[in-house]
Amino acid sequence: MSQFSIKVRGITRRFEYPEECPICHRLIIEPSRPIGHIDGDKFEQVFQCSNPDCTRIFIGYYKIDDPTKISTHYKLYPIEPKIDEIPQIIHKISPKFIEIYKQASEAKQSGLDQICGPGFRKAVEFLIKDYAKSTVDDPETKKAIENTWAKPVVEKYIAEPKVQRVAEKALWLGNDETHYLRVWNDHDIEDLIALIQLTILWIDMDDKSKKYDEEIS
Ligand SMILES: [Zn+2]
Repeated sequence: MSQFSIKVRGITRRFEYPEECPICHRLIIEPSRPIGHIDGDKFEQVFQCSNPDCTRIFIGYYKIDDPTKISTHYKLYPIEPKIDEIPQIIHKISPKFIEIYKQASEAKQSGLDQICGPGFRKAVEFLIKDYAKSTVDDPETKKAIENTWAKPVVEKYIAEPKVQRVAEKALWLGNDETHYLRVWNDHDIEDLIALIQLTILWIDMDDKSKKYDEEIS
């Protein structure tokens, strides 16, 4: 990981570059604008992405409590989550999931840890219900899915066992019965994101294998 040095209050301190641009997610090489701002024990550094297709400007936030340590950013702003990596089938069945997932990811990467946990939990609910709806044709059943809690939807309307299992786990982790008491920590959130990604993966595989079945039979 490459570093840069800046003199802050008469002391030369070392900082690590962000590993990637938070907007285009390509590697960035150097801060092209040497603009920094000190705020108590925090230091803000302006960067410009060196990818010629991006060139966007963003800020890295660093703590400068210990001058002997190399500071790593704890937050970048603004950020744009990588939603184009989500398979097309998900965009098709649940645009609302994409929107909520994007906002929750932005909250997470902006350090808003109290907001992102419930945000990802809400995203799971939309993904599960919209997926269940996409597997039925009858408008009455679609309506029933909309009006049912997410947990019974998984049990009753999701036939594919792999999707069912990961969706159940994701819901369990984001348990809606303990909203007030729930304390989200980084570990919970990382697990929940991993389960969402796994759910997406199985939905995509289920969709692809169904398409092959139709084409080959
Ligand atoms: Zn960029």
